Amino acid sequence: MKDMDNLPGFRNEPYTDFPVPANRQAMEQALRQVHAQFGREYQLRIGSEWIATGDRLESLNPSNSREVVGVHHKATADLARRAIDCAHAYFPTWSRMPAAERVRLLLDAARILRRRKMEFDAWLVYEAGKSWVEAEADVSEAVDFCEYYAREMLRLAGPQEVVQLAGEEDEMVYIPLGVGVVIPPWNFPLAILVGMTVASLVTGNTVVLKPSSETPTIAAKFAEVLLEAGFPEQSFTLLTGSGSAVGDVLVQHPKTRFISFTGSRDVGLRINELAARPQPGQLWIKRVIAEMGGKDAIVVDADSDLDKAVEGVAVSAFGYQGQKCSACSRAIVDVKVYRPFLEKLAARVKSIRVGPVDDPDNYMGPVISAAARKTILEYIETGKQEGRVIAGGEAPQGDGYFITPTVIADVDSKARVFQEEIFGPVLAVTQAHDFDHALQLANDSQYGLTGAVYTNNPEHLQKAKEQFHVGNLYFNRKCTGAMVGAHPFGGFNMSGTDSKAGGPDYLLLFLQAKSIARKVS
Ligand code: NAP
Repeated sequence: MKDMDNLPGFRNEPYTDFPVPANRQAMEQALRQVHAQFGREYQLRIGSEWIATGDRLESLNPSNSREVVGVHHKATADLARRAIDCAHAYFPTWSRMPAAERVRLLLDAARILRRRKMEFDAWLVYEAGKSWVEAEADVSEAVDFCEYYAREMLRLAGPQEVVQLAGEEDEMVYIPLGVGVVIPPWNFPLAILVGMTVASLVTGNTVVLKPSSETPTIAAKFAEVLLEAGFPEQSFTLLTGSGSAVGDVLVQHPKTRFISFTGSRDVGLRINELAARPQPGQLWIKRVIAEMGGKDAIVVDADSDLDKAVEGVAVSAFGYQGQKCSACSRAIVDVKVYRPFLEKLAARVKSIRVGPVDDPDNYMGPVISAAARKTILEYIETGKQEGRVIAGGEAPQGDGYFITPTVIADVDSKARVFQEEIFGPVLAVTQAHDFDHALQLANDSQYGLTGAVYTNNPEHLQKAKEQFHVGNLYFNRKCTGAMVGAHPFGGFNMSGTDSKAGGPDYLLLFLQAKSIARKVS
């Protein structure tokens, strides 16, 4: 790994500044170029074989559902089995490739992603309904995952410190696991997909990647990047198709060694349960890395800067239409500042512009699908019974899946809108008698992903540090926007297995340690 000695330390990818006219023009051009590719057909791929099953999967532009972004082919159960068999056959070759070689390929993938950054931004705008700024953050995070895990792999491939017994040479090495099934969600259709896929590959595992059915074109574009970087065709398969149709086959296959999943609680729990049952011919206990839902709270203390708290809650709740696992969906406000907080929040939220996201002046775009819009609107109806709507609550007519940012105040902490993940632009607000009560309400959840506290009281900060039970805790800032390297990401309780993506523990989940002792005297 000598030639890697000059690799500079990890730094987060800087964001493009869109108000700069040249950047704005470049993004407008990327949008035009991507729009010109709408409706193209993409085949799925197993090893070197490109396959058109004829069972079509069309992804739509959620800002204008009459537009088909990409046409894909759905895998069958048979193809899912073949994909695992192909990955299993190539594992001995790929796992023995020197780690430095795999790292070099990954750094190349990062370079290609960086070069195609605005193109990817544009795909995220059109297929996932992300605003320019949100798309840019997603693509930058994808670059960060590649750069960060490349460096982490070099660290883990190097000598590991163990005690040396007298008369022995003692060592410990990390080796890959086997075939990994990677199942990402649509809401970070590039960053999360990239993070889970490259973590699996750089550690020496072969991969069957089953992207979300909402965002298959972004997955197909990233597969192009991996191939261009030089990842062998057999090292990963892109298996588009319905999770409910092929998910069980992939998870239960006896040659599947691990499953890396990010998505909803119910699907994650099902995968965990199925994976735990050994199948005939299976030689191992399958490992499941499952990052799941959230019902994230921001606590606003009596002694806090109210304007900053209002801003933090608004951007955490309504950035990307509230469709982040880290989104604030519960605000818990000390009774002493509850009324002024609500007034300021309602005014702030009513100023949010909603509309198609190819227009950068729209802060909020559409939700991902017609089905998501229906579910969210049903929750808003429930919220009208459980509290008082002080902003939003409407679904503008048209071809986009738009919902206005909605705030439901005076909600009881046992209400459904306070307990269940809605995954849309809906915020429930409740009041607490004091700070202890606020923490108690914040922890009254099956989830434990992110949380934030706004306070100027150092004792309250200390108390929150000890008692607020979430994987990612923030003070006097929003509860979204985790940065690779700085904020390793993953949640407690039903939010998942706390895998801490983008942190120093992450790659260990894709490896197993082998201890070797040699008698020398
Ligand atoms: P989802 O419905 O659970 O789907 C996630 C993935 O699982 C998709 O690729 C889906 O494929 C697949 N899938 C569906 N049924 C399956 C089955 N029976 N077996 C195997 N795979 C199956 O979640 P989503 O709507 O895409 O994403 C939103 C959820 O993800 C929210 O709950 C959010 O909180 C969570 N999330 C968590 C994190 C985190 O880090 N904790 C990050 C982002 C998102 P199809 O699309 O084909 O159905």
